[in-house]
Amino acid sequence: MSLLPEQLLTGYRRFIEGRYLQETQTYRQLARDGQTPETMVIACCDSRAAPETIFGAGAGELFVVRNVANLVPPYNPDGDFHGTSAALEFGVQALKVRHVVVMGHGRCGGIKAALSPDHEPLSPGDFIGKWMSMVEPVAKGVAANELMTPGERQTALERISIRHSIANLRSFPYVAERERRGELSLHGAWFDISTGELWAMDGETGDFQRPLVDFDEPSLA
Ligand SMILES: [Zn+2]
Repeated sequence: MSLLPEQLLTGYRRFIEGRYLQETQTYRQLARDGQTPETMVIACCDSRAAPETIFGAGAGELFVVRNVANLVPPYNPDGDFHGTSAALEFGVQALKVRHVVVMGHGRCGGIKAALSPDHEPLSPGDFIGKWMSMVEPVAKGVAANELMTPGERQTALERISIRHSIANLRSFPYVAERERRGELSLHGAWFDISTGELWAMDGETGDFQRPLVDFDEPSLA
């Protein structure tokens, strides 16, 4: 039996023979000089919504933290273990990224769970339920809207929770301070897995807009 799943070894071979070979100098330089990414992305764990893939990013270009449903918790310096807040602290304070992007996506399982909080937890610890309770106040409002279909409610909460996370980002004193000084900007994005469309949040209104890119050819048609 191999030490790693066969699929990973095959992919690694492809990486070493392809991208790593082509970009050896870049990797060596990054190893020597350290990373200086300009953008931090907070994305979902979902295997279909990888930021490096969507943004075509190479090594050293994006500082990424992924968690269930791409949530940012509020600033809460208690004694608990805060993985996302730790990543945020490093990205903003040590790497001094200029942009933080909260990127949600369609068909998000975490958001779906938040819309039906009464279902059986996956384990007695119910870590997902506790994690998603962060958006409970907004989830309740969306779940109560009977004019919307389940699909519409899901998309709505996927986007509202991005705005919610951006508000939580501003509860971190150093994020608010760097934004005030014009050294950091906060963004929201939402990726539609089925069509490949990327929607971006208007910072003034909170609305999500598309398309973002003028394609030379109608390659998506
Ligand atoms: Zn998700």
